[in-house]
Amino acid sequence: MSIVRVALAIPLRRLFDYSVPANTPMPAIGTRVKVPFGKGEKVGLVIEHPSDSDIAEDKLKPFSESLDQQALLPESLFKLLNWASSYYHHSLGDVISQALPALLRKGEPAKAKSIVVWRLSEQGKAADLANFTRAPKQGVVLGSLQQQEDGQLSDEQCKQQELSRTAIKALVDKGFIEKHEITPAPALWSKSDTNNQASLKLNAEQAIAVAAVNQSIGSFQAFLIEGITGSGKTEVYLNIIAEVLAKGKQALVLVPEIGLTPQTLARFAERFKVPVYAINSGLNDTERFTAWLKAKQGEAGIIIGTRSAVFTPMKNPGVIIIDEEHDSSFKQQDSFRYHARDLAIVRARLEKMPVVLGSATPSLESLHNALSGRYSHLELKQRAGNAVLAEQQLLDIRQQPLSSGLSPALIKAMRIELKAGRQVMLFLNRRGYAPALLCHECGHVCECERCEAYFTYHQQPRHLACHHCGSQKAVPHQCEKCGSTNLVTTGLGTEQLQEALLEIFPEYKVARIDRDSTRRKGSLEQLLDDIHNNQYQILIGTQMLAKGHHFPNVTLVALLDIDHALFCSDFRAPERLAQLYVQVAGRAGRANLLGKVLLQSHHPEHELLQDLINNGYQHFARFALNERKDTELPPFSFQALFRFEAADGNAVNELSQQLYQLAQPLQQGETWVFPPCPAPQARRAGKFRMQLLIQAEQRPQLHQLVYRLLPQLESLKLSRKVRWSLDIDPYDM
Ligand code: ADP
Ligand code: ZN
Ligand code: ZN
Repeated sequence: MSIVRVALAIPLRRLFDYSVPANTPMPAIGTRVKVPFGKGEKVGLVIEHPSDSDIAEDKLKPFSESLDQQALLPESLFKLLNWASSYYHHSLGDVISQALPALLRKGEPAKAKSIVVWRLSEQGKAADLANFTRAPKQGVVLGSLQQQEDGQLSDEQCKQQELSRTAIKALVDKGFIEKHEITPAPALWSKSDTNNQASLKLNAEQAIAVAAVNQSIGSFQAFLIEGITGSGKTEVYLNIIAEVLAKGKQALVLVPEIGLTPQTLARFAERFKVPVYAINSGLNDTERFTAWLKAKQGEAGIIIGTRSAVFTPMKNPGVIIIDEEHDSSFKQQDSFRYHARDLAIVRARLEKMPVVLGSATPSLESLHNALSGRYSHLELKQRAGNAVLAEQQLLDIRQQPLSSGLSPALIKAMRIELKAGRQVMLFLNRRGYAPALLCHECGHVCECERCEAYFTYHQQPRHLACHHCGSQKAVPHQCEKCGSTNLVTTGLGTEQLQEALLEIFPEYKVARIDRDSTRRKGSLEQLLDDIHNNQYQILIGTQMLAKGHHFPNVTLVALLDIDHALFCSDFRAPERLAQLYVQVAGRAGRANLLGKVLLQSHHPEHELLQDLINNGYQHFARFALNERKDTELPPFSFQALFRFEAADGNAVNELSQQLYQLAQPLQQGETWVFPPCPAPQARRAGKFRMQLLIQAEQRPQLHQLVYRLLPQLESLKLSRKVRWSLDIDPYDM
């Protein structure tokens, strides 16, 4: 009997066997089939043609429908997904499903939708327009068609030319034109004519970087471009892409979630004549599928996308570029917890192409790989063009009178820039009005009942919101504990800062850019436009503002409150703070104006801040790497994190203890299983949360342990009651 082994998009880490229905050809490996599953049907991918099955022949169900003629994905990509499934110990079916556009997941055909065209018949070709004086609209349609070389127009073109529907129909009835449904052939671009604009004249460092990467087109090599903000990394990418396109190959560019701005896209689209496709969360299912297909068929010259775009198939893979490679949005934080940067490296190896990681603030992982020689290390130490590096200064705010978080020194500095007609940017990573609402009588703080977290007080519109679980409620009139009506806000959020600034600087306009003020579609673009046109002089932003945007008139950037990051338990917190600081500081003085960066702190003597300000990220990062080495933390060791979560706290505790007992005997060589402990947010959205960390000096040891442990965990009764997950190379912990 013929059997197919199929991967299904479910969390279970196993494949499912189905028989091939009578009189049906065996579906090829890599094609989709529709199969009965439970009470319904699912779409799966054929992985194997096994000779026999563990399931008895008469119990084996036939699949219902074969959906593709040929394998859906290039073999290399299929290998990548297999690799990811075993590296992340995640269900292959789920991995495949997350790599596919939604339409394909649902079983839609994997080819371009057919379109309607109106074509001249022999009679129509020969028709004399002079005979149509009494039916002028029909004459116009016929005339238009006769002018076409191939004697046809698509329905879409007819609409654009406002040709009469009734006339078309009449001509069809009379036999002058025919209706056809066709699938448009891929429109391929010519590799001999891809540039729209010439490159800028590269400086020596840029030229070296471009040459190094271009030499390796056609073979695998990983590069880290460590280039300070404004050093012209994007210009380097563009020059690499130019060469890739000239060889008839395609470029895949991955950018952080908030980096995919219309400006970024425009910069690529302006430079090249080839089609550029963006893949981001703003696309609907059809648009996403179209981009996927254009990439697969080679029609897209350049594909720019966020994390999941790493799975976009390419007909002629030429290069993968990852901008801001340190950005945490490249790591998926739920279900299939992959890192797009790491997968890009594996993919580049499989598809024999260079992969370029670029950042002003490389992750310590990538820096380690570069310094140890695994990646080629390319450095851009000079700012391109005329821009000069901003002047940086720590403001000691101990014992200073603060007005809504602003020290007198900062206010003074702002006034000087504003008077000179420049823009000022204030960075505060806390949206809302105030991070807490407090009872002035008894000290009680309004807490989300579902999380161990304070409610944030919002004024526009007035409500309390939990930024952890998203729950909202009306602002209470009285303290829940003592009944007092004397409730006050404490701490500073972006809304309040905006309000205060309007009072301190009534003559200037203040723009606030955070998730609340930009929720409406298009509102961010509008705000950014207005900022560029100098409609606002003071800009307040959260992390959203830190990346990617160019504000040529901003000369002063201030960070108001970053001290909490200095004392965070996460070992990656200093790295993140340093990256954020450099990104924010990079917003100052990007054009020909000298910029200034002010950092307010209660701990101006802190070693990390001093190192960062006086010696820069490069120095800081190398120092931090040494520290990681001494403490045997990643990238000098490898981690896997189990997370547990359930409404029943005892069950969570119990399961994590059981896993601990199972894991301990599996330790061998340099592996450590740490006792389970509460997650950093021990309660969220009403759930209790624990975690268990496993660390090893070598990757294979870690994976062996996890490989043996997982089936044991899966067989525990409680593992079906408590939600658990496994995170390889975890980030937020
Ligand atoms: P990065 O991506 O490293 O922040 P960009 O590529 O955006 O830097 O370059 C910063 C600015 O410098 C841009 O305005 C860019 O047009 C300009 N620039 C880049 N390379 C050159 C060059 N070789 N000559 C002149 N200007 C350049
Ligand atoms: Zn009270
Ligand atoms: Zn909550």
